[in-house]
Amino acid sequence: MSAPIIRTLPELRALTRQWHREGATIGVVPTMGALHQGHLSLARAARADCDRVIVTIFVNPKQFNNPDDLKNYPRTEHEDAKKLAPIGVDVIYVPDGEQMYPDGFATNVSVSGLTDVLCGAHRPGHFDGVATVVAKLFGQTAADRAYFGQKDWQQLQVVTRMARDLDIDIEVIGCLTIREEDGLAMSSRNLLLSDRARIHAPKLAEVMEDMAEALRAGGSMSALMPDAEKRLKAAGFTEIEYLDLRDAASLIQHDKLTGECRLFAAAWLAGIRLIDNIAV
Ligand code: AMP
Repeated sequence: MSAPIIRTLPELRALTRQWHREGATIGVVPTMGALHQGHLSLARAARADCDRVIVTIFVNPKQFNNPDDLKNYPRTEHEDAKKLAPIGVDVIYVPDGEQMYPDGFATNVSVSGLTDVLCGAHRPGHFDGVATVVAKLFGQTAADRAYFGQKDWQQLQVVTRMARDLDIDIEVIGCLTIREEDGLAMSSRNLLLSDRARIHAPKLAEVMEDMAEALRAGGSMSALMPDAEKRLKAAGFTEIEYLDLRDAASLIQHDKLTGECRLFAAAWLAGIRLIDNIAV
């Protein structure tokens, strides 16, 4: 049976207050819907750890810096509820814009430093939108634990920092990236890829894995970049926004493997922006 859908904050509050009175732990999985196995893995992790699980679905206008991207973002609420049913989450919270940003809403949550690079540098305002909505969802759900995907590594660091800096009593848990069989990181935006682009999309992860291996063998980014760019362009990628080796926690850039590093990429394929990151 599908979990009940709640659309208003007062209804959600009544429920979470009751759960806390009963001594239950609450897990929240924030999403923008168009759920795939990556999202479902977060819901399963929450289900395994927590007494009560809330999955939130809200396509957050504040984190889109491109109106077309917001307009075209897939919305599949009915299918999402069906996919969550077998996992047995307790509630799906689907607030509308009015619930989240009522008239006169005036607060912005901004995490500095971590957001200066990677997606932060290429999507102005994006992480303010993320930090603001996630701070609200943490407040609205009063959850004890929140589950985020490592697929969006920078977002995971930003949200963790925001919760710590604002003394929000919640444990932020990062879950492994779930991939298609051909290596493409699952993403709601993959639905927007043409059949042709979908065939070439896994090249991004393939090139990154090859770079990671070469870095582990002592290679440098400056030496590896020309070949990586050539391979991506040959597969049809038009623009490589970034393909960086960075410290996993501080996101400081390195040329060679130094401590715990990850490779981060954002690239455009047939009009769709794909991002990925892997441990090196
Ligand atoms: P989104 O709906 O894209 O905002 O994503 C909601 C949550 O699902 C975020 O914490 C994402 O990092 C996570 N997520 C998205 N794709 C994946 C994936 N392929 N594997 C694991 N988690 C994911």
